[in-house]
Formats: sequence, C-alpha cells, structure tokens
Amino acid sequence: MNSSGPRVGVLALQGDFREHLSVLRGLGADAVPVRRAAELDDVAGLVIPGGESSVMDKLSRLFGVAEPLKARIADGMPVYGTCAGLIMLADTVRDAITGQQTLGGLDVVVRRNAFGNQNDSFETDLDIPELGAPPVHAVFIRAPAVEVVGPNARALATLDDGRVVAVEQGPLLGTAFHPEMTDDHRFHARFLERIPS
Ligand code: GLN
Repeated sequence: MNSSGPRVGVLALQGDFREHLSVLRGLGADAVPVRRAAELDDVAGLVIPGGESSVMDKLSRLFGVAEPLKARIADGMPVYGTCAGLIMLADTVRDAITGQQTLGGLDVVVRRNAFGNQNDSFETDLDIPELGAPPVHAVFIRAPAVEVVGPNARALATLDDGRVVAVEQGPLLGTAFHPEMTDDHRFHARFLERIPS
C-alpha cells in the first residue's frame, strides 16, 4: 500500500521483518526495509523484528548499520524492538553468546531464552494499563524476559510471576512478545505516535 504517512523502517537483516512491514503499512505508515546505513538516513523511526539476536548483531556490524543506528538511537529516534529486537535494544544481555553485542539504549537487563525448553513458546493475555482494554494477547517464542528495569526505563507489562515483558524509555519501546503475529497492533500504533510529523 502506498501512503502519505511517516516514513519508518524495519531492520531487515534477519527475522520476521515482513510481518512488521505489513502491520505498519496497514496502520498507514510508509514502511520500508532497512539493511544499509544509507537507508537508515531516510527513516524517522525503526522497528527491530524478532529473529535471532546474535545473528542480527553480527549482520548489523557486517553491513555497517550498527554504528549509525546507535547514533540515531542516541539522537532520540523512536525505535520499537520485539523479542530479538528487545534484546538488541537492551543495555545488558544475560545468556548472550560469546562476543554478542547490543545496540543498547534501553536501561534494562534482559535474559535471552528466559523461559527455557519446556515453556519456550506460549501465549497469554496481558493487562497493560497504558493500552487500556482489552488485554493484549501476547505470543512468546523463545522469548527474553527483562530481569532488571533500570531507573531510566519503565515496565509496561508484567507476567503473573512478576517477570517484565514490555518496557518503555522515552522514544524506545520493547516487547518480549510478537504483536506482529496477532491482529492487535496497539504497540505499533504507540511506536508510530512517537514519530515526529
Ligand atoms: N531467542 C532469540 C534470541 O535470542 C529471540 C527469539 C525471537 O525473536 N522470537 O535472539
């Protein structure tokens, strides 16, 4: 769909970037895949999809997009990370592979694959006061959990066991789950609200 909405990118190195492009276009945004630094220059916000954070990290450095992206994050660009994307945005990662780096920006500590083998994929309904009713149906796939929310970040959603699964810090938003796999796109809409017009 063509659109006159804001131009936003989806980091398209790896993972389920196509689903995010389609959700953002459905919400009226001019959404484009971003693989190179030059493509990053053209967007006013970025979604980092789910996938495999260690691979996304390696590819982002190989393609020369990691450093310019860190600079845009430091400059206040709105970014929404889902699952592996949340890991990429975290300042600190536990259970990372050797040498794995993140872009950082979110003052949180996340643990990769926090739900272990038996429970590595599950769905649940989350009450998220900032989004109002109804609850968000959340799909978790080998998801991380936020183990520490630093003073600059804030928890938006918590599981019954107390683990934090959605966080926000100014223009940065992260969810451990995958709204792009459901019909509820309130998180994407919240991301788009932060794009300066
Ligand atoms: N376990 C993956 C990682 O470490 C994340 C899984 C996902 O994005 N669905 O990056």
